Amino acid sequence: MTKTPAYAAQSADMPVAPWSIERRAPGPHDVAIDIGYCGVCHSDLHTARNEWGNTMYPSVPGHEIVGTVTAVGKDVEGFRVGDTVGVGCMVDSCGRCDSCKAGEENYCENGFTGTYNGPTQQDHGNTYGGYSTHIVVDERFVLHIKHKHDLAAVAPLLCAGITTYSPLRHWNAGPGKKVGIVGLGGLGHMGVKLAHAMGAHVVLFTTSPDKIADGKRLCADEVVISKDPAQMAKQAGSFDFVLNTVAAPHNLDAYLNLLKRDGTMCLVGAPPVETPHPSPTVFNLIMKRRGIAGSLIGGIRETQEMLDFCAEHGIVADIEMIPMRDINKAYERMLKSDVKYRFVIDMQTLKDEAKAA
Ligand code: NAP
Ligand code: ZN
Repeated sequence: MTKTPAYAAQSADMPVAPWSIERRAPGPHDVAIDIGYCGVCHSDLHTARNEWGNTMYPSVPGHEIVGTVTAVGKDVEGFRVGDTVGVGCMVDSCGRCDSCKAGEENYCENGFTGTYNGPTQQDHGNTYGGYSTHIVVDERFVLHIKHKHDLAAVAPLLCAGITTYSPLRHWNAGPGKKVGIVGLGGLGHMGVKLAHAMGAHVVLFTTSPDKIADGKRLCADEVVISKDPAQMAKQAGSFDFVLNTVAAPHNLDAYLNLLKRDGTMCLVGAPPVETPHPSPTVFNLIMKRRGIAGSLIGGIRETQEMLDFCAEHGIVADIEMIPMRDINKAYERMLKSDVKYRFVIDMQTLKDEAKAA
């Protein structure tokens, strides 16, 4: 076991604060990673504050991890000391069920182990994520990073990237398809970049008029202010696919109306359990055989495919780097939709903090 500096929430109403955790010694199949950067996902905030009602405390969030391999177990074949690697939202799954066998560990029928807030055999009973200086992960859940630069901006691909890439691929975003992305936050801005790179006609729906220019810079073909009924009416009935990344409860009918016959809106945003979305109107679905679906991150094989696609297309996230100690301020800004477009923690700041203590 190795004592490792971290930041943790000790309860739903406590800020995320310095703490110390133990990391296991690398087993035969493990990769030990020195964490360089960790992205800040809205799921970190939902979890730290128990907004999904399932948080185990203490909670060390962080599942957009990029770092360097410092040691490998004796049976590790795919990684060497010095490699640049990533870890996303999962660190284990059963490996035996149909979903795991299909490479979709994210839908493991026995429940995958989350990088944080996952069950563990260790005595603390809860996995600890990337708001820490080091992590030890089974090589099956470690990703190769081919990007040579901008490693901080690669970190958000590990969750925001795959969570948007997977449904865009599943619902065939590509040339000839009109795709809507709802919400320009961490997930949404990756959705815009990826759908554009896949060749779709991309329309961004934002509640924030000050994000129009950024939407276009990020390669949206059109930007619509979703609070303006006239702008929304012009787009009605014209979309093949809508990817809804909004973290807050809202009226889903406004976006269902955008779909053509047989179009699908996929929800990836997950509001707090105590404040769910109001139910959409059934007639809005049945009159055009529209679908509402959901999608959860992506499997390891598809995550590697997404990372390689991004390296090939020169895609990274637009980020604002923060020191570890500013994490609670970052959460508050995230709640105000004031993120451009992903906070990433420079883990050197935590290493320095720990050294000074
Ligand atoms: P984020 O950076 O906070 O972005 C959310 C965006 O939604 C905001 O920037 C804002 O964009 C828009 N928005 C906020 N409140 C709104 C409202 N009341 N009505 C309409 N739009 C609103 O969050 P994120 O990290 O992208 O995460 C988004 C959600 O996805 C979270 O719930 C997160 O937990 C979830 N998530 C799901 C998965 C999965 O596997 N399904 C994976 C990761 C995250 P505008 O200013 O442009 O309107
Ligand atoms: Zn996430």
